[in-house]
Amino acid sequence: MNAVIKDRSSLSRILVATDFSTQAELALQWALRMRDAFDARLVLLHVIDIFSLAELSCRAVGGDPLLPMLRQEAKENMRSWEAKIGNGEALVREGSPRPVIVEVAVELECQMIVMGTHGRSGLSHLLLGSVAEYVVRHSKVPVLTVRLQA
Ligand code: AMP
Repeated sequence: MNAVIKDRSSLSRILVATDFSTQAELALQWALRMRDAFDARLVLLHVIDIFSLAELSCRAVGGDPLLPMLRQEAKENMRSWEAKIGNGEALVREGSPRPVIVEVAVELECQMIVMGTHGRSGLSHLLLGSVAEYVVRHSKVPVLTVRLQA
């Protein structure tokens, strides 16, 4: 039988940051366990990285042709993720994922962030950085990172 933690007020809303990857999927499994243990509510967040889009020089006269595609893709992915959590909330924002994840946790009064991480090191870490690392460093609330084992 699953034990439910008694002091429910301590963790009532958990933010799950997702790029819809396998790592994020694994993080969601942990978030679901936390939700059940604390009788909390999940808030799914995906951030459309509009600044990376701009860096790719995808801008064209009359607007960015990729943005509507990304919006549609995010909407569809989020719909299928929402189905996995049942009763919860789902949010798609546009901006820079790292600060937006940190800000949304505070804005939506989430007491914890759950997210995946590739755990990159060496050159790939240098080139690509880590979203999870930024969030751990800047978040006002505890962060649970889940790394997919190779
Ligand atoms: P890292 O491998 O450390 O760069 O972190 C990857 C994790 O950051 C993913 O598993 C997600 O939990 C989160 N993440 C990355 N990009 C986004 C995004 N655009 N929107 C929301 N969460 C994201």
